[in-house]
Amino acid sequence: MQFVYHPNSQRIIFGAGTLKQLPDEVAALGIKSPMVITTEFQKELGTSAIELLGDSFDCALYDKAVMHVPRDTINDIMAKIKAHGSDGCVCLGGGSTIGLGKAVALETGLPSIVIPTTYAGSEMTPIWGITEDGIKTTGRDMKVLAKTVIYDPELTFSLPDFISGPSGVNAIAHCVEALYAENKNPVTSLMAEEGIRALAESLPVVVKDPENITARSNALYGAWLAGTVLGTVGMAIHHKLCHTLGGSFNLPHAEVHSVIIPHATKYNQEDAPEAMQAIARALDSTPEDAPGALFDLLAKVGAPTTLEAIGMKEEDLDKAAEIALSKPYFNPREVTLEGVRELLQNAYSGNRP
Ligand code: NAD
Repeated sequence: MQFVYHPNSQRIIFGAGTLKQLPDEVAALGIKSPMVITTEFQKELGTSAIELLGDSFDCALYDKAVMHVPRDTINDIMAKIKAHGSDGCVCLGGGSTIGLGKAVALETGLPSIVIPTTYAGSEMTPIWGITEDGIKTTGRDMKVLAKTVIYDPELTFSLPDFISGPSGVNAIAHCVEALYAENKNPVTSLMAEEGIRALAESLPVVVKDPENITARSNALYGAWLAGTVLGTVGMAIHHKLCHTLGGSFNLPHAEVHSVIIPHATKYNQEDAPEAMQAIARALDSTPEDAPGALFDLLAKVGAPTTLEAIGMKEEDLDKAAEIALSKPYFNPREVTLEGVRELLQNAYSGNRP
């Protein structure tokens, strides 16, 4: 056995009601004037965090985070950070809000505390993305890694079923690809398998009973594991395809991950036997039917099963396959145009793999 394991150093606080620990955590980082970042939709949550922080801190609220981290939004928040004299950020929300906090950290080096309210996993990665003139540039920089992450499952009660399901499958996709990553190692593989198990068991309950604290805790625990492996090992064809479909055809992020993951798993089935065994153990399935079991999970959590249903046009599949082949990521099976085109056709039609 030979491997390199390079974990990212972060402080993780997990559990129902842990938002209350925010003042102590902000103080522990030496932050005195935090900029609290949310979306307009989650403004109330931002305001309640400021109330919780109280008079010991000089807080400001920025509630204009939007998808894809546009340059204009970064310029806007940077002006407010300068005017306020912020010495750190508190990001409350999903990947879009966390992404804006990362852009601030990239420009300023300011520390951040992140309180995630979806299952996307950005809080555990040093990966940033910024959109300028319609082009999204991404990169890795340890400066953008959150210093502290507070996972409070009570904050996910309000996440509607139609976001919870796909967002959770998005997290499962990180775990699946971690299992066959080029730099996989025994520790991340344990985390990935446990992440799939926790999410697959809890998500069907979460979408039916959104305030079930046990299910919400398990789903967020799975999302933490998924974010951890996403931030530690490389991703493969699934993530490449999702970036292509999201970026070039404007398909919704979590939904595109949901549709593609059973087919990407099928694509790699022959060349990643250990990963199939792990997925099968986690889903109580067989290695032969691991891709099919992932597909069946989509229906159980109300996630979309066809590219057609999320707005892809069939005539664009050829172009998507060509783009996906440019600057390819590592993948256990050779990535060919015919193979990817077939994968996309199956995903378009929603064929059970
Ligand atoms: P999102 O952050 O765009 O959130 C979607 C909507 O849900 C927003 O309106 C938000 O305010 C709302 N919302 C969030 N939590 C809620 C809650 N608990 N209750 C009610 N509403 C809530 O969606 P997302 O899927 O979390 O993030 C997607 C983005 O994150 C993508 O742009 C993706 O590229 C990025 N991402 C980045 C990384 C990384 O490592 N850099 C990892 C994963 C995702």
